[in-house]
Parts: sequence; structure tokens; C-alpha cells
Amino acid sequence: MRKNTILWIELFFAVLSIWVLFMVGAYPDISMVALRIYIIALIVITVGMVMAVRYYQSQHSSVDIDRICEMVRHIEVPAFIWSDDLSTMYTNEAMDDLLGIGESEDPGDTAVLLSNFFHSLGLSPRDAADILNGKTYDSGILDEDGDKRYISWTTSMLKQGSHATLYFSIGFETTELEEAKQSLTAYAQSLAKSQSRYALSMKLSGIGILLCESVHDIYYVSPEAQQFLGINSDHISFVEFRKKLHPEDRMLFDDYLNKIRSTKPSNASSKPRTLELRIRAAAGRPYVWYSYHYHENLTASNGSPIIGGALIDITIEKNKDATIERLAFMDAITEIANRNKLMHDGAETFRLCQNMGTYCWIIVLDIDRFHIVNDSYGYENGDKILKNFAHILCKYTASGGFAARVSADNFALVLHDYSDHGDEELPGRTLEHIRADMTTLSCGEFSNLSLSCSAGFARIPTDGHSFTEVLEHAEFALAMGKGELSYVMGYDANMHREIVSQGEMEKELANAIEQRHFQLYYQPKVDLHSKKIMGAEALIRWIKPDGTRISPNVFIPIAEKTGMISDISHFVLCEACEQNALWQQMGLTPIVMSINFASGDFYQANVCDVVQDELYRVGMQPKWLELELTERLALGDINYTVQQMNALRDMGILLAMDDFGTGYSSLSYIQLLPLTLLKLDRSFIIEIVTDTVAQEIVSAVIKIAKSMNIETIAEGVEYEDQAELLRNMGCDYIQGYLYGKPMPALDFQKRLEINTYGKELS
Ligand code: C2E
Ligand code: MG
Ligand code: MG
Repeated sequence: MRKNTILWIELFFAVLSIWVLFMVGAYPDISMVALRIYIIALIVITVGMVMAVRYYQSQHSSVDIDRICEMVRHIEVPAFIWSDDLSTMYTNEAMDDLLGIGESEDPGDTAVLLSNFFHSLGLSPRDAADILNGKTYDSGILDEDGDKRYISWTTSMLKQGSHATLYFSIGFETTELEEAKQSLTAYAQSLAKSQSRYALSMKLSGIGILLCESVHDIYYVSPEAQQFLGINSDHISFVEFRKKLHPEDRMLFDDYLNKIRSTKPSNASSKPRTLELRIRAAAGRPYVWYSYHYHENLTASNGSPIIGGALIDITIEKNKDATIERLAFMDAITEIANRNKLMHDGAETFRLCQNMGTYCWIIVLDIDRFHIVNDSYGYENGDKILKNFAHILCKYTASGGFAARVSADNFALVLHDYSDHGDEELPGRTLEHIRADMTTLSCGEFSNLSLSCSAGFARIPTDGHSFTEVLEHAEFALAMGKGELSYVMGYDANMHREIVSQGEMEKELANAIEQRHFQLYYQPKVDLHSKKIMGAEALIRWIKPDGTRISPNVFIPIAEKTGMISDISHFVLCEACEQNALWQQMGLTPIVMSINFASGDFYQANVCDVVQDELYRVGMQPKWLELELTERLALGDINYTVQQMNALRDMGILLAMDDFGTGYSSLSYIQLLPLTLLKLDRSFIIEIVTDTVAQEIVSAVIKIAKSMNIETIAEGVEYEDQAELLRNMGCDYIQGYLYGKPMPALDFQKRLEINTYGKELS
């Protein structure tokens, strides 16, 4: 019977009783006896009904317990029904297993085992009833095999009796869960321990960690790395990270980003890689060298590829390296990179540009007439100028790039070009600034000095197949303006149209020598006072069968490099001597025939014999032959040079120093050589009318040469005012377009005829 029904019945009798009392009040005539009888009957009926209902209720409750016991029997997890005085117990099979109750167990024994069970939970059955009722209770108990099992018990009251209350408890095994929980706790603890150990070791070792998922442009930054970078956050974007790098290292970093962005997990290299970068924590702080030792193929727990590695401060090692590097890679005078360093860093720059599709420029610079500084101000002052010039160049490497001293007054400047398609104007613009800066060099003891520079430039990586080739092309562009002051020229592949390629050129030159595709042109040398032709310089021309003319400036250096020059020189010697002898035989006023001798020719042991044989063959006196030598001879064995020159001079042959002033020698050097003529280089003459320094130098050189009985000739004279000035300075001869460009033998012959038959040159 339901509890509600019982309440309704009890309520019905209560209302009935009230109604009877009301009736007694409403009918006072009713006799007292009848009333008492009536009341007693009512009480008896009510009590009877209540007892009947309670009995019915208790009868039906016990039926429910049986049903529950039946259900519990089928439950596979431990479950039991129990009264708090342990007078009633029912355990299912799973519970029996747990308690170790055998099949033939006496109920009394079951009570003992159950009581022990409660004790094992730290409870008495009575307490257990209070504590467990309506709750879940987790317990850890040892089963009969001694294994610890974790069970979560849920207990609910079934029936409250007058003596004891009946409960139903069901247990859910949580052993696995509990074990997982425990191992997780243990792992968390050991992780915390190892993490604190890890943090400590990171701190002690000073290693920072940078990690990034290859798809995101953000680094996760460990606490140490945060200190290195001067940030308070555990992440930094690539853009912000790049800003903290030294400008010279940014290209390297961009290359690295390109690489990691294109790294696919499948083809990622398992080898760790290293980047050496300079990082500064904040503007104004010094850059610190770090080695970033990273792997490209790590995998995050979510399976996505990550790239990461350790950032280690290597400043100390770098400083040590820097000392070694300084010795090997630094130019002692200017304290900037030397040629070795230029070649090394240049090759790296070339590689990076190729990888990333970016551009750089290499500008090779030559201080115009630097020898003047050395000659006029001394080497110490010359060094000062070189150093200051180097500092000017370094100014332009601030946003990436570097400067190097290649040799003597030759420098190289590598500039990063940050424009998308290459900024063609960058080298020209930079050179303008450099020239403007050079005016600051003309101060103090150098206030009379006006310095300028010439340059050739080429683009990395498009103007060559290697850095060496790009550098050569920039040098080639510079060489194209041979001698011109403030000359600037960018490399153009068309410059090589004549040349095509070195290898091909060599082959063609060898063929040209065999086929005699050469012709000699003659340029007059004129006496400045009589204005008469006193000599001719034989200048070779390579004329291909298709009519293309190749300048000696282009092929002579190749011939010198490959050794073919001796054939060419021999050809020139024979041809020029033969021609001069012929003109003499024709009765024309004898002139001196000058031929250019490369230093390679000069070092040939039999040079005197060769020349003598040739003079003998054509029947010409040695005094009509002049050999033009260059200052480069002095770079070789000076004793041998002097010996050879003396031998030639003893034969009566004239010896001229060509291009004087363009090399490294000073005036003191020529004292050693038995020279008869000094050829002042064209670069002095170009500005001689306006440049007072050039005037002073030329004038001084002429005087010194005279004091040594050496005659002087000025090359490249194009204007009358230049000739006039040189005449006043005491210069003996001039050679230049003013009195005639190099011309074929027949044209020259006509000039000689005029010369011979008394007509003045116009
Ligand atoms: P170099 O011996 O100094 O010859 C003078 C060069 O200056 C010639 O150039 C000549 O044409 C040029 N020149 C002369 N006067 C003027 C002038 O007023 N203005 C200008 N702008 N230039 C002038 P070229 O013939 O092109 O020869 C260039 C160089 O090639 C020569 O310089 C010489 O070093 C070399 N070379 C020429 N022929 C031979 C040769 O047969 N053997 C050797 N070993 N070298 C040669
Ligand atoms: Mg010459
Ligand atoms: Mg010359």
C-alpha cells in the first residue's frame, strides 16, 4: 500500500472524529451515555483502522525486500542488503567474492565478515548506516588475493524498522580509474619534479628554447630565452624576433624561415642545424651572439610538425673566434674585412641571395690617384686616408652588407637591396653619398687634397655564376673606365659581347695568334717644343674576320694570364721593328718605335737575345727601339728586373716606364731602374688644367725625372691648354688625341712624310 493512501485513510477518520464532536455540540439533548458509547466506538474504529493499515504496510514492505534481493542476485557488481544491527544480510555473488564468503558459509560468519568489512572502512555498522546513507563512499580494500581494489559504494535506505533499518549498498569497481588517477598524480609529481629540475638546469646552463609550429609565425619562448630577447611574454612573432637581430644576420634568418616553411614533415631532415645570430634584448643594448641549434622534424603531441631548438649564448666563443678571425680576415690598416673575408662572406651572400630570390650589389671602388697621396704626403698619411675611407664605406653597411679592402686603394662594398625587383639606382645613389662624404677627408693636413673615387658594380646573384665571377664583373666594369676620374659603371653582360666567355675568348685568341688576326696601329709621340713627331707607340688591334675590333684592354690581360702574351709580343716586336726599318729605308726622318712589354715578356730569360735577333733581322739600330714597361714589374723580383733592364740598356735600347703613377711604386723606386723615359699616366693629365694638386705632382715628377736624366712624356693629351701647361712645366713630349689617335701604318706614314719634309703639325 502506498504511503499516500494510508495518509488519506487516517485523514478520513480524523475528519470523522471532528464531525462527531461538532454533532455533540449541535445536539445538546443527546444523552451522555449514548455519547460516550459513540465516542468509544469511534476511537476503537480509528485505532483498528490505523493498526490494520500499518500491518498491511509492513506485510507489503517485506515482499519488496524479497524482490530486491532477487534483483541483487543478478547484479554482477558487489551489492548487499543489510540492517544496521546486522540481523539481516543478503550478499550477491560478486560481494561474496569480495568478502571471501564461501558457498556453505554460515549466516553468522557472513555477519562477522560484513562487520569486518565495515571496520576495514573504519566504520561500525551503526556509524556506517549514518555515514553511508544516501551517499557514495569510496573505499580501498584488499581482496582475498591481497590485491587492493577500489570500490565506490552507493547506499540507500530500504526500510526503517522499529529495531533496525534496512539498507541496500552497491559497489562500483574504480580500481582501474583509481590506479590511473594515482599514476597520473605520480606522473604529475615527477613531471613537476623533472620540470623544476629542467627549469633549474636550463637556468644553470643558460639555454633558452624557441619552438614554433611550422604553420604559425610565432615562437614559443622559454623563460631563459625571454631574458635573452628582453621580453615578458612566452611568445614572440617572427617579425618582432627578426627586428631584434643584427641587420647583417637578418638575411640568414629569412633564409632559415624560407627553409622551415617549405619543410614537409615527410622530408624533414633529422639532422640538427645551427644558426649563429646576433640578438639584442632592446635598442641601445649590445648585440649578443647566440647559436640556435634546431631540429626541423619534431612533432607536437597533437601531431603537428614543430621546429625548435636551443638558443645558447656563444659570445665568449665568438670573441675567441673573433680574435682568430681578426688575424685571418681583417685588414691591418683599415680594420675592415680583407680580401679573404670578402671572398668568404661574399660566397655566403651569393648563396643566400640565390636561395631567397633577393639581391645584393657589389661595388668595387678605387680611390682616384691615390698614389699622389702616398707620394706627396707619405705612406703614414696614405694609411690614414685609407682608414677614413674605410669608415665612410662602413656607414653604408648599417642596414646590411659589409665593406672590405681588396688591395692597396681598392675596396669592395656589398650592399643589401631590399626592393622587390632590384633597385638599379642603389649603387649610383650610394656612390654619390660616398663622394660627398669624401670631401670630409680633405681637412687638416689634407686640406689641399681633393679626393674622389671610381667604381664598378655588379648585381648578386644575377651578374655571375658565383661570387667570384660577380666580383670579377664589377672589377671589369671598373676597368672599362681605365684612368677616368670619378668613373662609375655598372656591369652589363653586353660588355662581354666581344668576349663571350673567358674560355671561348682564350680559344679565339689562340686562333687569332695562329691566323695573325692582328694589326698594329701607331700613335705619334710629339716633341712639345719642335712639335715634330719623334716617335710612335705601336698599339695592337685584334680585328676579327667579320670586322669586329677587340680592345687590347680586353684581350691583353687574358693573353698575360694564359701565357699567350709572349707570342703577341713577338709579333708586335717583329712587325713594329720591320715597319720602322722600312720607314727609315724610305728616307723618312728616323723615329723611335715604342712597343709595350708585359712583365711576363720581360722575365723571359732570353729577352735580350730575342730583341737583338730582331734588330739584326730588320737592320735597325737599338736606339730606335723603346720598350714600355709598367710599374707592375716592380712587384716581381726587383734585382732580376734591374739586371734585365741594364742588359737591354747596355744594348742601346730605350726603356720607358708606362702609365707612371697608376701603380704602387713611388718616385724613389724609379731611381733603381735604368729608365730613359717616364710616361705620365693619362689620369694626371685629364684634370691638369683645373686640378692644382695634379699640377703640383706632375711638375714635381718632371723636375725629379730631369734631375735623374730621364725624359718625360705626358699620355692622353687632348687639348691645347693641357699641352701648353705641360710645355711650361718642362715636359719633353706628349702623346694624345691632340696630335693624333692611334692609326694604321699607311696613315702614320703620311704624317711622317709631312714631318720629314718640313711642314709643321697643325
Ligand atoms: P698604353 O700603353 O698606355 O697605351 C695608351 C692607350 O691610351 C692607348 O689605348 C691609346 O689609344 C690611349 N690613348 C692615347 N692617347 C689618348 C687620348 O688622348 N685620349 C684617350 N682617351 N686615350 C688615349 P689602347 O690602344 O686601347 O691600348 C690600351 C692599352 O693596351 C695600352 O695602354 C697598353 O697597356 C695595352 N696594349 C696595347 N697594345 C699592346 C701591345 O702590343 N702589347 C702589350 N703588352 N700591351 C698593349
Ligand atoms: Mg704604352
Ligand atoms: Mg700608358
